[in-house]
Amino acid sequence: MVAKTPILIVEDERQIGELVRLNLHREGYQTHLVESGEEALRYLAAHDVLLVVLDLMLPGIDGKEVCRQLKWNQQTRHIPIIMLTAKGEESDIVSGLELGADDYMVKPFSAKVLIARIRKALRCDETMTTRMDSLSHTRIGSIQIDKDRHEVCVNGIPVNMTGSEFKILMFLASRPGFVRTREQIIEATHGSRVVMSSRTVDVHITSLRRKLGEAGDLIETIRGVGYRMEESSRMAGR
Ligand code: CA
Repeated sequence: MVAKTPILIVEDERQIGELVRLNLHREGYQTHLVESGEEALRYLAAHDVLLVVLDLMLPGIDGKEVCRQLKWNQQTRHIPIIMLTAKGEESDIVSGLELGADDYMVKPFSAKVLIARIRKALRCDETMTTRMDSLSHTRIGSIQIDKDRHEVCVNGIPVNMTGSEFKILMFLASRPGFVRTREQIIEATHGSRVVMSSRTVDVHITSLRRKLGEAGDLIETIRGVGYRMEESSRMAGR
């Protein structure tokens, strides 16, 4: 099956853009490649796209601004965005994720991994809207979460946790494999009006990990960015 709606690639380094394009074609995706933020916004205003692979460092309108405009617009806010960043741009990754980007890749990256991330983002896009509400039970490795009863078990043994810890765990577990910034964690668990330091998130996570014991390792720290729940597929055999 070939998706007719293209994936938009925004990348000013021609070689990288072409490489991404070639690999997506091989997977059966249609693509459209542009080299600037201006072109990207123009294209997006007139076309439906499946997903955007967005380089952050662009001449003129940069990737962050493209991301902001996409996520502010009702018409385009649902489109998943995967950011491309250079090494050492952690602060850009954080602000990109906070602007609503779904995932990121640090250059140089493997095309195979990018394809996997794209697949994941598209899959999540389909299921995410209903997932949090419809799933009363979630299982991540040895962790079982019963949302209705506010219960968490590790290997069948109940774990006592505070309301905040439970909410943070639910939030991370709702999208395994995706990095969440501290700001996003605060907003999702306490709302945007609550003023809370990012340090508080670290404290909750530390406590959460301790309570989960060995399963606490499933919550990964992504340095300079935030936290991520490991994907269950990577935990087979645990
Ligand atoms: Ca660039």
